[in-house]
Amino acid sequence: MMIAYLDQRLRLAPGTDVDPCGDGGELDPDLEAASKDFGGVTRALPAVVRRPCSGDDVVEAIRLAWRYDHLTVAPRGNGHSVAGQALAPDGIVLNMRAMSRMELVRGDGGQLCADVGAGVLWGELLEWGVAEHGLSPASWTDYLGLTVGGTLSNAGISGQAFRKGPQISNVAELEVVTGEAERVVCSPERRSDLFYAALGGLGQFGVITRARIPLLPAPPLVRWIRVVYASFEVYAADVEWLVARPEREGFNYIEGFAFVNRGDDQASGWESVPIEPSSVFDPGLVPPSSGPLLYCLELGLYHDVHDGVDKRVEEMLRPLKYIRGLEFTTELSYVDFLSRVNLAESAARANGSWHAPHPWLNILISASDVVHFDRHVLQSVLKDGIGGPMLVYPLLRSKWDPQMSVALPDTEVFYLVALLRFNRPYPAGPPVENLMAQNREILTRCKSNGYDFKLYLPHYKTEAEWAHHFGKDWARFVERKARFDPRAILSPGQLIFTRAHPPSSSPS
Ligand SMILES: Cc1cc2nc3c(=O)[nH]c(=O)nc-3n(C[C@H](O)[C@H](O)[C@H](O)COP(=O)(O)OP(=O)(O)OC[C@H]3O[C@@H](n4cnc5c(N)ncnc54)[C@H](O)[C@@H]3O)c2cc1C
Repeated sequence: MMIAYLDQRLRLAPGTDVDPCGDGGELDPDLEAASKDFGGVTRALPAVVRRPCSGDDVVEAIRLAWRYDHLTVAPRGNGHSVAGQALAPDGIVLNMRAMSRMELVRGDGGQLCADVGAGVLWGELLEWGVAEHGLSPASWTDYLGLTVGGTLSNAGISGQAFRKGPQISNVAELEVVTGEAERVVCSPERRSDLFYAALGGLGQFGVITRARIPLLPAPPLVRWIRVVYASFEVYAADVEWLVARPEREGFNYIEGFAFVNRGDDQASGWESVPIEPSSVFDPGLVPPSSGPLLYCLELGLYHDVHDGVDKRVEEMLRPLKYIRGLEFTTELSYVDFLSRVNLAESAARANGSWHAPHPWLNILISASDVVHFDRHVLQSVLKDGIGGPMLVYPLLRSKWDPQMSVALPDTEVFYLVALLRFNRPYPAGPPVENLMAQNREILTRCKSNGYDFKLYLPHYKTEAEWAHHFGKDWARFVERKARFDPRAILSPGQLIFTRAHPPSSSPS
């Protein structure tokens, strides 16, 4: 019935109304929603949207795509991409949100794991894990309204990643349906070729339908601290020292951000630093010689009620060279700490910037280039801020398995620079073209200065750009595509391969 329905549907003009199918999963009537993403810059109407409930539904959709030379299949997590990566022009969008099962299981080594459908949101996993079992994954994203399948197709980075690795380093097993419609259970021990290909694989090698994620006891409380630096060099020296500390002596969460050295910018100025509404940022403590940007180191220490946290924190902060007096701190439950971005989401929804275009830029840049980057990009192109957070914090390459598909800079220590623009829609905010031109200017400077950098959540338009992005691993990426999705059906919105020109099995 499904094939008959889609055959009929695909003979219709794309974008016409869809009726529920009700056969092994219901069809989503909302083509419009599947034609856009959080970025709000790219649009493409699919021919059909399907809500798979099982791996077999995914197999069926992929087999259907084989029947038409033009037809592609894009799994869509929560559509939080910013450059059309989850779109399928005239193709089949698989709305993965119905794959929402969560189960507590024991992994092969006896470890407790969450066995979850790929459409589960990380926020749902947090609530379920902590409330029902007192357990939690080790690695998170800042914002939790993202699906397990969506972030595992990229990396999943937050303040735990320096120690625990990104989310893709915290997976015990996956179920993946390849572009050959093969439903495979894979892990580091079993079909490891597909397991590592799918992690950070940009949806190119298979649809992740299920993930098994190891769990740890959830700590009751988090001491959340922010301290301020006037100099990037001093900030970088401190934060790199902190991420190298052994676990027993260190913080559990480390991030940081640049902010404008002004009081008139609520979103990215002095006021963006205090955690509690009652705390005040005293600009009189900032050295008069400071530049246009200041830097905030953000720390989290997981702890119990009776473990002398005040003394521990005091000792841990003592060696740091931040501006004394510019410390901000609070205590939250673990769930509230991890859900902290919900407040920012509510504020952005209220002021219109949640639904405005988001031309975000995320760069992974080598620690050896980051001080120069600060001087010649952050303090220059971005000296007036971006209307939202400018995250800058280090990660360690040794926490990322090189067999995974994601491309990284070549050094052990590299920084995530995340330019998370939250502007109000034009004309209340700047025209989106200006913001995109600013992104281009930043990338031009990165290239002309010869920085060792990669885009995180990359988006390119030509094969040459993708080949450059993957560098020495491009041949492996092409070979994986030829093996797992030789018809180039999957995730066409990444613009890496095209259905008409699938990858050659002998990579160039
Ligand atoms: C407000 C906000 C905050 C964010 N915060 C962070 C953060 O802290 N850390 C971080 O690392 N990232 C962050 N991101 C980026 C986010 O990780 C990516 O945009 C991610 O792709 C979004 O997940 P999604 O579930 O919406 O995926 P989608 O945007 O729906 O899909 C992303 C890509 O993955 C593919 N895909 C989706 N599901 C599957 C699947 N099951 N199997 C195979 N391929 C699939 C899609 O086809 C598409 O190519 C943030 C994004 C937003 C908008």
